[in-house]
Amino acid sequence: MQVWDRRNPSFLKWSTSNNTSNNNNKKDLEEGVDDALGYVLEDRLINAEIENNLPNNVKLLCQTQLTGIEEIGGEGGGKARVTYKSTDSSSTSALDVDLLIGADGGNSSVRRLLNIPTSSHSYGQVACCATISTVGGAEYRHGHNTAYQRFLDEGPVAMLPLWDGLYNIVWTMEPDTAKEVKADPDGFIGRLQEAIMKGPESSGPPSVLSAITDGLGLVNMNEFHSPSSSTYFTPPPTPTSLVSPILSFPLSTHAAHNYVKGNCVLIGDAAHGVHPMAGQGLNLGLADVEELVLRVGSSVGGGGKVNDKLGLEIYERKRMRKVMVAQGGIHALREIFRFKGPGDMGGIGRAVGMAGVNMVPGLKEQLKQAAMGL
Ligand SMILES: Cc1cc2nc3c(=O)[nH]c(=O)nc-3n(C[C@H](O)[C@H](O)[C@H](O)COP(=O)(O)OP(=O)(O)OC[C@H]3O[C@@H](n4cnc5c(N)ncnc54)[C@H](O)[C@@H]3O)c2cc1C
Repeated sequence: MQVWDRRNPSFLKWSTSNNTSNNNNKKDLEEGVDDALGYVLEDRLINAEIENNLPNNVKLLCQTQLTGIEEIGGEGGGKARVTYKSTDSSSTSALDVDLLIGADGGNSSVRRLLNIPTSSHSYGQVACCATISTVGGAEYRHGHNTAYQRFLDEGPVAMLPLWDGLYNIVWTMEPDTAKEVKADPDGFIGRLQEAIMKGPESSGPPSVLSAITDGLGLVNMNEFHSPSSSTYFTPPPTPTSLVSPILSFPLSTHAAHNYVKGNCVLIGDAAHGVHPMAGQGLNLGLADVEELVLRVGSSVGGGGKVNDKLGLEIYERKRMRKVMVAQGGIHALREIFRFKGPGDMGGIGRAVGMAGVNMVPGLKEQLKQAAMGL
């Protein structure tokens, strides 16, 4: 993965031992190679895999809308009664469950029906998303397995590798810019090339920036180098054509004040949401699942119930703490990359910061582990 900034002469690059091989995302997954910083997975494939592996005793109720959730059977040890109606009928049905898990996304009906207070903040920006094909560049020779992210004035533009030279684009921009971009699909590739096919540029006072780069031993990032070393800046492959519609999503962050209420628990985006710039949204949800499985497993394994109060409390406490740290970190990162300051102090500060990350032993590795959710 390579991250760089429009406004400072530095970059960060993380590699694995597998990075210079001829493998790519799809091949790695097929072969079970587990030597990657992360994977780009399509939502529909994850969902299909889950559906195909559901045990026989799971009953799916599709096209339904939740209409109410209430606790029954008293405090502790009771059940949650869930009422719902089919989207094509007005009659309601009810289910009594030991544990209700709300995994219904950012606009969670479960969270709303439980009246769980939620803090949210709109960034006032949107993410434009599309799939593109590419050609050439270092990736052409070394397999498409590097994710690129360049921070521009309006926000980051990311190129995430799929297979056969295809990349997903996630591009943060102002809503007005997004409108222009969506209205002109033919101009998308040109705009994207302009946005991402450049090394870091120095826009601050040259004397200060060159003093920093010289003093810290940074290389001139505007010269593209061989990708074989993690020391050198790698040019992304050249975007050539748009192969999907351009979609846009409003960007916001939110946090439920409770993840557990009675016999109900929230996981994933139902409980929390983050800016996609750090690629952590789904990771945080998967970590919720892992923790919940652990807690419920140990309650049941110890002769307790699936909705054991203590187990659920531990789930809530542990996950809330970790999610708050991640949300704070991602929010801070966004602010740091947006900050300009007088005389582009922001850019200079980021140059020093990135150089520090590159030079302080272990720091880059720690950031990598955090990004991988380890
Ligand atoms: C532009 C963008 C880029 C992103 N990039 C990344 C990234 O690089 N890495 C990353 O980790 N995360 C990323 N995310 C975040 C990630 O998409 C979310 O965190 C993740 O999808 C949350 O998963 P979830 O299952 O909790 O919720 P969702 O994906 O929202 O799924 C909830 C599901 O519940 C269903 N549902 C809702 N109500 C009902 C109902 N009544 N009955 C039945 N089903 C219902 C919905 O249809 C939906 O399928 C990105 C998000 C955006 C917007």
